[in-house]
Amino acid sequence: MHLSRYFLPVLRETPSDAEIVSHKLMLRAGMVRQSAAGIYSWLPLGLKVLRKIEAIVREEQNRAGAVEVLMPTIQSADLWRESGRYDAYGKEMLRIKDRHNRDVLYGPTAEEVITTIFRDSVRSYKDLPKNLYNIQWKFRDEVRPRFGVMRGREFLMKDAYSFDLTKDAAREAYRRMFVSYLRTFARMGLRAVPMRADTGPIGGDLSHEFIILAETGESQVFCHKDLIEGEIPASDTDFRGDLTPIFDRWTSLYAATSEEHDAERFAREVPADKQVSARGIEVGHIFYFGTKYSEPMGARVQGPDGQQVTLEMGSYGIGVSRLVGAIIEASHDEAGIVWPVPVAPFEVAVVNLKAGDADTDKAALDVKARLEAAGIDVLLDDTDERAGAKFATMDLIGIPYQVIVGPKGVKAGEIEVKERKTGTRDTLPLEAGLERTI
Ligand code: ATP
Ligand code: MG
Ligand code: MG
Ligand code: MG
Repeated sequence: MHLSRYFLPVLRETPSDAEIVSHKLMLRAGMVRQSAAGIYSWLPLGLKVLRKIEAIVREEQNRAGAVEVLMPTIQSADLWRESGRYDAYGKEMLRIKDRHNRDVLYGPTAEEVITTIFRDSVRSYKDLPKNLYNIQWKFRDEVRPRFGVMRGREFLMKDAYSFDLTKDAAREAYRRMFVSYLRTFARMGLRAVPMRADTGPIGGDLSHEFIILAETGESQVFCHKDLIEGEIPASDTDFRGDLTPIFDRWTSLYAATSEEHDAERFAREVPADKQVSARGIEVGHIFYFGTKYSEPMGARVQGPDGQQVTLEMGSYGIGVSRLVGAIIEASHDEAGIVWPVPVAPFEVAVVNLKAGDADTDKAALDVKARLEAAGIDVLLDDTDERAGAKFATMDLIGIPYQVIVGPKGVKAGEIEVKERKTGTRDTLPLEAGLERTI
């Protein structure tokens, strides 16, 4: 991508309405613009990050055996009347009337929709287990939308739903998502700690929230320090096998959100120097809730003995758009965002220090082409801004590597490579410089 053709409306000043650093940086880096309270447009740079996060979530869901579907944003109120949640859900639900005066709503979650699909399509235990997920916009009319995309009203969520014949099988499905989530967040450069959580309006009796520790987090959490450095299951983890050992290892140490916190147990089980009491951001939440929806909605299959069995279900959410903010909260400095490579909008920025100079232009284009041939996503700054402003912008938008191409270097056959995270700058022969970033 050539910066001169891109749409990157960076702000030099910090917007006064943004309270936390990720919100400020997302506005300054031209990633999003608010179009109404808690409702955002995603500009090119923000959209690229959102898509990269989405792709990691999708890969890890698929790896764990979940199958992607796409459900609508608008749902019929009648579905929610069937499950008994229509009135109970309260003011967070955006209720709409269509032209025929029928009640519809913008889905805050999709248990009802998926349960209906499953009920109407699956008849036999032989079709189980199944886990279906979608990555779709949700709407919750939050009483206080704030912190930018971290607590939006419209937000992108991955929500998965598991269907099983027995409680044991459903708990296995739960463990698959639990393990899959450990991998998902780690791949984004985050350390998300699974913590015992309240099941809230979703219902059920087994639940974990995945929490990123951050001062600006809205949850108060308590955990054993070793969990923050816990071992992440490898990519060849067998999701068809028994995941109990991994699950047990991760749940044997104390970790709880404030709703589930037991101060006495915490003091008893966790040595003082390992006690972490901190603020955290909820980036994922998994639930096992059994027959809470399948029972009222009549989602049953024929079991091995010919009897009708009500399905055992769980649901599994990830805040895809919230993660964009959460990653920035976890990874920034005074100069701007520091993207972990796997979610960076571009992996390398090629900075042409003398746009318009034929030799420098040619060298910069050549570097870009070489990197792209190696499969790297490159942003070429081909504008005629002064060098200082170019560097400030690249630091602000947080591209992991900057390759600086100037007329002096071109003559000497050298480029300068700057690593955003450490700030180290090295002048290297062209080949060695390219190696550094590939
Ligand atoms: P919170 O406690 O932050 O209100 P929640 O517990 O209501 O979240 P869930 O129903 O568990 O949310 O939804 C699954 C995931 O969706 C959450 O873990 C979170 O990452 C994300 N999420 C929920 N509400 C929002 C929101 N208003 N804006 C952005 N992401 C959200
Ligand atoms: Mg909520
Ligand atoms: Mg919550
Ligand atoms: Mg939750």
